[in-house]
Amino acid sequence: VTGGLAPSPIVPTVDFQADGVQHGFLRLPHSRDDSAWGAVMIPITVVRNGDGPAALLTGGNHGDEYEGPIALFKLARTLRAEDIRGRVIIVPAMNYPAFRAGRRTSPIDDRNLNRIFPGHPDGSPSERIADYFERYLVPLADVVLDYHSGGKTLDFIPLAAVHELEDAEQQRRSLAALEAFNAPYSLLMREIDARGMYDTAVEAQGKVFVTTELGGAGSASARSVGIAERGVRNLLIHAEILQGEISHRPTRWLHMPDGCFVISEDEGLLEIAVDLGEPVRAGQVVGRIYPIARTGCATVDYRAPLGGVLMSRHVPGLIQTGDCLAVVAVECDPPSF
Ligand code: CA
Repeated sequence: VTGGLAPSPIVPTVDFQADGVQHGFLRLPHSRDDSAWGAVMIPITVVRNGDGPAALLTGGNHGDEYEGPIALFKLARTLRAEDIRGRVIIVPAMNYPAFRAGRRTSPIDDRNLNRIFPGHPDGSPSERIADYFERYLVPLADVVLDYHSGGKTLDFIPLAAVHELEDAEQQRRSLAALEAFNAPYSLLMREIDARGMYDTAVEAQGKVFVTTELGGAGSASARSVGIAERGVRNLLIHAEILQGEISHRPTRWLHMPDGCFVISEDEGLLEIAVDLGEPVRAGQVVGRIYPIARTGCATVDYRAPLGGVLMSRHVPGLIQTGDCLAVVAVECDPPSF
C-alpha cells in the first residue's frame, strides 16, 4: 500500500495467498436508505496454485458491456487450481453497481470508473473501487486483461488492443500478449483522452495490459463471446499460467491515425451508410443525419476522414451533437516485437 493514503475501506472475503479456488467478494461499505450498515458486494474469484505469474482479469468496468462478464463468470466457474501455476484473479464486473443497473456509469455516484483512476479511499463508491484496484489488485498482477465493448451507444468490430507506450520493452511485451489473445483484429490504440483510465494506471505500474472492444450495442453475440473465451485462454497460456497450446487464427493489424474519429456536429436521425468491418475510401459518406423537426430538410453527410476500415459506429437510431458517429482505422503490417 503506497502513497500515504488511508487504507482502503474495501475488505476482500478471499485470501489472495491461499492455494485453491475461492469465490468471494470485495466488500465495499455503502450505508444507504434501504441498508443502514449495507455493503456493495463485488464478486471475485481467486485461483492459485503455488508461486508463479499472476493475471488480473476484469469485465464490467463499464456496466453495459457483456462479453467480459460472460467469459469471466464462465471462467470463474470452470478454472481449476490444478490447471494453472501461479494465480488468476477474476472480477467479472468491476463497477458492480453499474453492471447491476445495466449502465455505463454507476447509479450510486454517476461516475465513469474508467475516467477516475487512481481513485481515492475516501472518495465516492466508484473512486473507492478504482483506488482498490490501483493499490491492492494491480500490484499483484503481471498481466492485466480488461474486457470492453461498445456498450449501449457504440458497436465495434471484434478487436483486442494495446496502447502506444513509451517504454520499448513494455511495448514489446504488450504486443506479444495482444498477438496471443488473437482477436480477429489487433489494434494499436489511441484514446480520445487517456487521463483517469484504468488502462493508463495499469500501464504506469509497468504491467502488461491488454484491452478489447469485442462488439457492443448493449449485448453480446455467440461470436463475440467465443472470441472473448478463446482470447483469455490464449493469454493465460502465453503468460505461462495455463498449460496448453495457443489457438492461432488470422488477425488483421490496425492502427488509429490522427483524425480517425468522426464526431457529430448535428442532432437527428442517423442513417449509417457503411457497416462495421467494411472498407471505406477517404471522402466516402459513412453516415447521414436527418433533421427531425420537419420534413423536406437536407441531410448532413458525414464523410470518412481517411481510407481504411469502419472500426466503430454509433448505435442508437438518434444521434446528438458531440456523439462519436464512427471511427475509421487503417490496416497495417504486423508490428515487429
Ligand atoms: Ca467500454
